[in-house]
Amino acid sequence: MYPNTDLHIAGRWRPGADRQTLPVLNPATGETIGQCAIATTADLDEALAAAARAFPQWRAVAPFERAKRMRKAADLLRERADAIARVMTTEQGKPLAEARIETLAAADIVDWFAEEGKRAYGRVIPARAEGVLQAVVREPVGPVACFTPWNFPINQAVRKISAALCTGCTVILKGPEDTPASCAELVRAFLDAGIPGDALSLVYGDPGTISAYLIPHPVIRKISFTGSTVVGKKLAALAGEHMKRATMELGGHAPAIVFGDADVEKAVSILAPSKFRNAGQVCVSPTRFLVHESVYDRFVDGFATFAKGVKVGDGLDPQTTMGPLIHSRRLDAIEGLVADAEAKGATLRAGGKRIGNRGNFFEPTVLTEVPLSARMMNEEPFGPVAVINRFSDDDDALSEANRLPYGLAAYAYTRSAERAARVMNRVESGMISINHHGLAFPETPFGGVKDSGYGSEGGPEALDAYLVTKFVTQANF
Ligand code: NAD
Repeated sequence: MYPNTDLHIAGRWRPGADRQTLPVLNPATGETIGQCAIATTADLDEALAAAARAFPQWRAVAPFERAKRMRKAADLLRERADAIARVMTTEQGKPLAEARIETLAAADIVDWFAEEGKRAYGRVIPARAEGVLQAVVREPVGPVACFTPWNFPINQAVRKISAALCTGCTVILKGPEDTPASCAELVRAFLDAGIPGDALSLVYGDPGTISAYLIPHPVIRKISFTGSTVVGKKLAALAGEHMKRATMELGGHAPAIVFGDADVEKAVSILAPSKFRNAGQVCVSPTRFLVHESVYDRFVDGFATFAKGVKVGDGLDPQTTMGPLIHSRRLDAIEGLVADAEAKGATLRAGGKRIGNRGNFFEPTVLTEVPLSARMMNEEPFGPVAVINRFSDDDDALSEANRLPYGLAAYAYTRSAERAARVMNRVESGMISINHHGLAFPETPFGGVKDSGYGSEGGPEALDAYLVTKFVTQANF
């Protein structure tokens, strides 16, 4: 049922040169379900040569033709969504319905970028003399190296591949070793749709070794990374040393402010499911809930009731609404964060423990009155834990929202237009969603500020990262 994953290099699916593999585990059972091929330096060299060879050819393909092939890839993803979703759930753990939605959303992302690639317009600048043309043209940056994580094995990769291909760049993708097969199915859809084999390579292996080899390599002109801030800073430094352009989509610790005038039931009904989606392993997951004292008890009661009703289990079971964490390291990390918060005086209102001893299951957890000294208030939990604290003064809530170095997503609930405007002005984050959960569409920017990184993975801004600007001028005598 679950396929082994090969590398895709220079138009061929094949094992690594030395035939080494990594085991892939089902996070719901802990069992080894397959193997993932590992790339050697010789394999990377072949992928680099292919990306360099394909670049002049792929950039010469008209955007209309690129779009046709990309749209075909989107159709293939829709046709294959049920099968791909099963593979994703088996290796990643999320409920089957979420895996299916992710695959279908990926098809929409490919469609959107396919169309947007046709509109990578330049501009004409009025000249100072008659007969002089001054124009700005935009060209693909060149072969790009992309690094994507396991939490959304398809979604994280599809944004990078689509933006690169629609602008005429070629790609080497270092996919997620924990969840390799669904990411490979995404790559397969592009290749089956007519993207040249040399233009899209897929490799796996030791992430540090591969990034240290690809980023400085002269063939690579740009990198795009999604993952933790710690790793992102290292890769950004390496990219800087070698003058490579970079997009960094890193961690977050999203504040969710619920003001006294909010529709509290509506806020709970949107924020609680989004906290536990994908077991909280989401970079834009709401994490620090700041709730006005006048509605605090109602909010906490509603949230804890929701948490206790979440059906945790194997994602392949249709009753399941939350699956396991990706690996046992995450389980240990969450246990440590919860224990630390409790030791420092936090109140446990729901969950708090690992479930059973098979698979990486952790209870949907709600902590209240969590002191700022708790690690949970400062480190991204990346798990199914909500921390809910009260505030009495709006300015205090806004200061708390901005206290951390992160700045990815922020949320607020209020019926006051004036308060909403203040949140939009004052909160330091790349994305703010007020009174609904409205992030991560292909047509809207997606990215952070401060330690959450830079660049965007959505909207026309996402194309900018893959395009260089060239000024051309000509006098007609
Ligand atoms: P990790 O730091 O080991 O890995 C995170 C991701 O970065 C993985 O995909 C990994 O392959 C990659 N990575 C690690 N070192 C790398 C390197 N030197 N070069 C290139 N890629 C590298 O941690 P983990 O336990 O797998 O995940 C935990 C943390 O990672 C979370 O706390 C979260 O902050 C972060 N994370 C963020 C996202 C996101 O969507 N922004 C996704 C997954 C993980």
